[in-house]
Amino acid sequence: MAIADLNHKKVLITGAASGIGRAAALAFARQGATVLLCDIDTAALESLRQQIAGVGSECFAYTVDVSNARAMAELATRIHATQGTLDVLVNNAGIGYLGRFLDSDLGHWQRVLDINLMGVVHGCHCFIPAMIEAGGPRLVINVASAAALFPSPSMAAYAASKHAVYGFSEVLKMELHDTQVQVTTLCPGVINTPIVASRSNIAASVSDEQIGRLQSYYQAKGCSPELVAESLIRAVKDGRDLILVGPFARLIFQLKRVSIGL
Ligand code: NAD
Repeated sequence: MAIADLNHKKVLITGAASGIGRAAALAFARQGATVLLCDIDTAALESLRQQIAGVGSECFAYTVDVSNARAMAELATRIHATQGTLDVLVNNAGIGYLGRFLDSDLGHWQRVLDINLMGVVHGCHCFIPAMIEAGGPRLVINVASAAALFPSPSMAAYAASKHAVYGFSEVLKMELHDTQVQVTTLCPGVINTPIVASRSNIAASVSDEQIGRLQSYYQAKGCSPELVAESLIRAVKDGRDLILVGPFARLIFQLKRVSIGL
């Protein structure tokens, strides 16, 4: 199911304040879409909202934590009342977690699953019923990862959450096959964003030097979030239901071999 013309279409992007979500918001805005931004980073959201409004596209920003079921339900009520039904929902918000399983305490598991998996589940649960009722074509894009397809070193919780997003999305595709709502799974790999920048998302056993080497690797080898956004727009226009983007197969293979000491 394709949406060839995005002009005036309503697109909600979670995790829109940085990286892939930010690049996607700008790309949808350039297509003339009304862009609804959701993130927990209010300052970055507001700066993006102003940037998009500055180029003449309609844009609204909402500070909401996708892991909070009630906050997501309230967001849906507010958007349905003020903007109407979404044409495109991009469940993109996510966090990374770096550290070998046996070196990490288990505190991060719940947070990674709450944001990466339950954030996607909440988005789907709150917005899809109205999308089905309104008729189509409408699209739901769930951001999984290359980590859902290939094993990634030192990312057990992250990989588990992304395998879960992938599996959930595949089931949802089947359950919605007779509706006008298509579910698409986006699997990026090694994209140059700040996803592994925060110390709170890295095990204490990982040294600053190792983090520096990994970040340099992302900067040198990762593809740009803008490239992911371009693929996303193309997939929306072509109606593809699986998007693999980034030189991830080769890079993940190399990542296992380079000496990042993880
Ligand atoms: P990023 O850190 O640049 O952006 C993530 C955004 O999500 C941030 O703006 C952050 O504030 C927001 N966010 C975090 N927790 C949130 C919450 N609870 N509620 C709402 N917003 C929240 O990272 P990115 O690389 O752009 O990641 C975007 C998506 O792409 C994530 O789902 C990530 O797992 C996935 N991904 C990234 C890569 C990569 O190499 N960068 C690879 C595969 C998949």
